[in-house]
Amino acid sequence: MRKTASLQAIRAYLGNKSTAVSAVELVDHFSERFNKTTIYRVLTRLEDEGEVHSVLGNDATMYYAMCHSKCSKEAHHDQHVHRQCRSCGEVSCVEVAIPALEAMDFQVEEAKVLLIGLCKNCQ
Ligand SMILES: [Zn+2]
Ligand SMILES: [Zn+2]
Ligand SMILES: [Zn+2]
Repeated sequence: MRKTASLQAIRAYLGNKSTAVSAVELVDHFSERFNKTTIYRVLTRLEDEGEVHSVLGNDATMYYAMCHSKCSKEAHHDQHVHRQCRSCGEVSCVEVAIPALEAMDFQVEEAKVLLIGLCKNCQ
């Protein structure tokens, strides 16, 4: 029962964000409702189920975002890149395809590309 509540709350939180959310932010946000272990377990489960994908930030922190492509339990198909602002640390998904790689004899299944730069607010 509690497990379901945490799963729904974390899924809703990620769904309402336009940027990726770090595990640290989630732990902090839900600190009064769920413990750290529960939050990490839920994130792992959501990722396993193909609902959420993760990207490792330049700050060595894991960031999570909802999947918008046809991800499933079997495999993730998140063929987009991520960007992180070196000033405020914000991470977001950028829906650009990387067809050039497909032409190089390599079948892309998942992209874990991180672009570093300055976001609109920090420029
Ligand atoms: Zn995915
Ligand atoms: Zn910024
Ligand atoms: Zn993404």
